[in-house]
Amino acid sequence: MTPIHTKCLIIGSGPAGYTAAIYASRAMLSPVVIEGPQPGGQLITTTEVENFPGYIDGVQGPKLMDDLRAQALRFGAEIRSGLVSKVDFTGDVKHVTLSNGDEYTADSVIICTGAAARYLGLPDERKYQGLGVSACATCDGFFYRGRTVAVVGGGDTACEEALYLANLAAKVYLIVRKPYLRASKVMQQRVADNPKIEVLFNTVTMGLFGEEVVEGAHLATHSGTENENFYDIAIDGFFLAIGHQPNTEVFLGAVELDEGGYIKVKAPGTATNVPGVFAAGDVADPVYQQAISAAGMGCRAALDAERYLMER
Ligand code: NDP
Repeated sequence: MTPIHTKCLIIGSGPAGYTAAIYASRAMLSPVVIEGPQPGGQLITTTEVENFPGYIDGVQGPKLMDDLRAQALRFGAEIRSGLVSKVDFTGDVKHVTLSNGDEYTADSVIICTGAAARYLGLPDERKYQGLGVSACATCDGFFYRGRTVAVVGGGDTACEEALYLANLAAKVYLIVRKPYLRASKVMQQRVADNPKIEVLFNTVTMGLFGEEVVEGAHLATHSGTENENFYDIAIDGFFLAIGHQPNTEVFLGAVELDEGGYIKVKAPGTATNVPGVFAAGDVADPVYQQAISAAGMGCRAALDAERYLMER
């Protein structure tokens, strides 16, 4: 089958991908967007989004993504679904193959494949997803005003989420598997200084309980040792902050990644180490990871691609 050629191939369909598509279409690049296995990205699994500018009363995650998608289509972006299984970025013309065998060639590529929040792997996390379990305090913290919540993790994200939640909730447990926090000193100090946060060191989560929504967590301290101790805490919300996994497996060896697996870009631009290949959104941003910052980066990537094509 002859590959389909485009000036601009956008891989991924979260806020970064669709925003890149809106800008690239309006720049007459006739972009093709490859929607992955979860069109719309992480926001598809979110309920209400209250911090995306422009939606005064908030918006449901899937509705926001439908709107972005429709806006990209309105300007002529072509949207195809499929899973990218192979890429070859070595030449001027980039080659991308999907798992169904479809092949694309492109003069420029924008990678927007996002990242996935890490979970502990407990069956209860799935059972209570959206019913007290969340991996985004900024997105869902507001629903726990005056309540008791737990955050799992000992890094900067966990501390940041705990501090954010402490502004809203009555009490925040920080569940840390080691006897110390991995977070930066300043974050550790802020957590220690906050009277609403109780850090539970050497502690792992065994499970969650609750009639319909999360009502508590089963914990174990010094798990696997002779000092092992099991107890329960009453909580209304359970937040995971144990890191994100960027979706970059298929790009290994094709573009430069950092030690966390995120695509390296030449900030403030979005160029990767491969001319003609750009990256935007959570896949290239280990720090902010917000829908609006991803959308902004998608805009920059499309402008960067346009400039690259013009200069060629
Ligand atoms: P990190 O990888 O730094 O930390 C992950 C934390 O989760 C660690 O404490 C780790 O424990 C814990 N963890 C991992 N797996 C499990 C598990 N299965 N059970 C229990 N705990 C687990 O990720 P972050 O998301 O915190 O940070 C990512 C990067 O982003 C870092 O470089 C960070 O500095 C940066 N960042 C910077 C911010 C800022 O500057 N404002 C804000 C947020 C992030 P353990 O320590 O035992 O391995």
